Amino acid sequence: QADWTVAATPASGPLSARKLAALTPRPPASHAANTNTFLSEALDHLNFPPAMRRLLLTPQREVAVKLAIRRDSGELATFHAFRVQHDDSRGPFKGGLRYSPEVDLDDVRSLASLMTWKTAVMDIPFGGAKGGICCDPRQLSERELEALTRKLVQALRPVLGAHTDIPAPDMNTGAREMGWFMDEYSKAVGFTPGIVTGKPVHLHGSLGREAATGRGTVFAIRELLQAQGLGGIAGKTFVIQGFGNVGSWAARILHEQGGRVVAVADAYGAVAAEGGLDVPALVQHVTAGESLASFPGGSEVPKERILAVPCDVLIPAAIGGVITEANAGALQCTIVAEAANGPITPDGDQVLRRRGITVLPDIYCNGGGVTVSYFEWSQNLQSYRWTEEEVNARLDRTMTEAFRGIWEVATRERLPLRTAAFVIALQRVAQARANRGFD
Ligand code: GLU
Repeated sequence: QADWTVAATPASGPLSARKLAALTPRPPASHAANTNTFLSEALDHLNFPPAMRRLLLTPQREVAVKLAIRRDSGELATFHAFRVQHDDSRGPFKGGLRYSPEVDLDDVRSLASLMTWKTAVMDIPFGGAKGGICCDPRQLSERELEALTRKLVQALRPVLGAHTDIPAPDMNTGAREMGWFMDEYSKAVGFTPGIVTGKPVHLHGSLGREAATGRGTVFAIRELLQAQGLGGIAGKTFVIQGFGNVGSWAARILHEQGGRVVAVADAYGAVAAEGGLDVPALVQHVTAGESLASFPGGSEVPKERILAVPCDVLIPAAIGGVITEANAGALQCTIVAEAANGPITPDGDQVLRRRGITVLPDIYCNGGGVTVSYFEWSQNLQSYRWTEEEVNARLDRTMTEAFRGIWEVATRERLPLRTAAFVIALQRVAQARANRGFD
């Protein structure tokens, strides 16, 4: 029997809250604290009573598990993994699984909360969750990663289900991991493609899911430019931090639409070209295993400088917490499109507000991924497949409608887009919670 625990409050059990806090090193401002700062602003605006605030801010369930696998060397290795189910008022818990050395309970808690607000602002029938394994996937072989993924399914199975909690890809996970995930779950309960989204296309994954977050980000930028009377994507300049799934697809689609991607960075280096990078050639270069910085069609720039490269739209598409009070003053853009989750700290956000830089908030801007996850899940439940055109057209419609709602509230109530998005999401979740009753 797998070793798993379900705790109503993180600090319950034999350890006192104080002792536990002393044992857990915390960064000065935790990720969860950052998310809650943004949420609090919207909650203040809505004037929700304290009990409702607490209910909406506190995760419904937090699961911490230990996974043991045998390494290729024969040695035993153990890993900590988490699933935080934040809220399911509007539908089953939904959210990705990330494999990274940065994964800890605080991080996953904040990302789970963001999923609740993301699914609500996109108006898709899910709640919010997030999970992850604290590991460095670059140090693990494919067999080890598969074993770890299967162990995760075994450990989390009691709290998962196609109508209960549906995981998906996130940082360092993709279709391959989701295929293993579905297989392991199906072994136990029978063939269940709807247990996870972002699967390989030959295993009931949706066409268009892989590109969905990047494509959704481009739709979001298009809507904002239009609303601000700034024209279209063509001819605008873009800087992208992160060249994984989200950043590389956003770059490709912007390039297709005549946008000039003038600089791109990943965790190892950065490359720039004032006239715009040849993105398909860059993708090919990186796919062949070469570094971004060695791309012959551009010049190398220190990756630390990427955020300060002049452009119309800056797209952080990597990790959280990269735009802070310390560097927000150096940005040279008019729009920041948050393709990553939580890339701007609350202090950094204040600086951008003062500077009149518009932020497309993560819970909307990167909502294309979970939206096409919803399409995938719907197709799985119907045992039916949509065409890629149909998926993309529906994604366009969902992104456009969500933008109109946010823009309308932001304009009417004179709020930043982020606060407006949180206000809409909080209202939807609170309303659903209230309609379901409390007794
Ligand atoms: N990991 C993605 C996100 O942060 C997708 C989640 C999903 O599709 O459930 O939105």
